Amino acid sequence: MTSYRTPEKSTKNGTCPGAPKQKYRKISEDLILDEERHKIEKEFGKTNFEICIPSSELDEVLTHEKDVIISHSFGCYCWNNFRKTEYYHMRSNVPITKRDVIKKLIELDFNTFCNHSFLEDIFMKTPCQIGLYFGS
Ligand SMILES: [Zn+2]
Repeated sequence: MTSYRTPEKSTKNGTCPGAPKQKYRKISEDLILDEERHKIEKEFGKTNFEICIPSSELDEVLTHEKDVIISHSFGCYCWNNFRKTEYYHMRSNVPITKRDVIKKLIELDFNTFCNHSFLEDIFMKTPCQIGLYFGS
């Protein structure tokens, strides 16, 4: 005969026994974030921008094109379109990953010089143009 676990009962004051677990999970998520930050810092060192892309996504291949353009339009309120879109040429003989783009940005000494210095995403704008998403 199969034995079933009895469901956890609510405590006397009516709070759900499952509730505190949520808090612990939050803490462990913070620890993971710290660990992530540490990993990223260890790999890239000091950068002009904060890398907020999970390390698990860094090897994601963006394109197999050999010649691409990284472009960033400073359309945020800080610049209010005052700064022109910047374009950078990137050449690679191997598939380009998000890590490669970050390395290129570091090499270029890329800096948004505004509140939006948190690199949250790197994506393909067109088949040969890479876009950057910076948050605050
Ligand atoms: Zn900005």
